Amino acid sequence: MNGIRFNGREIQPGKIVCVGRNYVAHIEELGNELPEEMVAFCKPASAIGERLQARFDGEALHYEGEICLLIGDGGIAGVGFGLDLTRRQTQSRLKQKGLPWERAKAFDGAALFGEFVPFRDDPMKLSLQLEIDGELRQQGGAGLMLYPPPVILREIGRFMSLQDGDIVMTGTPAGVGEVPSGAEFVGRVFSNGEPLCEARWVAD
Ligand code: ZN
Repeated sequence: MNGIRFNGREIQPGKIVCVGRNYVAHIEELGNELPEEMVAFCKPASAIGERLQARFDGEALHYEGEICLLIGDGGIAGVGFGLDLTRRQTQSRLKQKGLPWERAKAFDGAALFGEFVPFRDDPMKLSLQLEIDGELRQQGGAGLMLYPPPVILREIGRFMSLQDGDIVMTGTPAGVGEVPSGAEFVGRVFSNGEPLCEARWVAD
């Protein structure tokens, strides 16, 4: 089974709901248009992996560091750092044709999560950083999101039920790129600037 760790125990998420195009600087780096409504897509639980792969089926993978929310008791129960791994070439091809993204976003190993920690504070205080080989590559936070966490949950709730154990990936700030083989990734989520949790992977 493909589980995540929360507060020392294992949880099997039902689904992962992801927000796309949530930071203006990232929308600009990919040359996308500002969304008129929140961009949402899903990864199945089978996409949760342990290993950070630099390639999938011969294609380079791109990393997207994201603040991740764990749903519990009908709201946000925990927070963790996650990587939304993307076959960017495949995604560009599918986007051009107006086709769904699953082949680029839902493959096995396309979602990695560090341990989630309990969180009951104000989600507007959340921020993240991603370092690759000790170099800061991504940073962002709720204050920079087009759709911050409370709005994300409301928008998702307009068309889909979130259940306890589900994960919401809140989108990636600028600085995405290819996963360099052998590189060490360290992602952190902060609340009000104080470290909450950390995740570490070394790319295959
Ligand atoms: Zn993403």
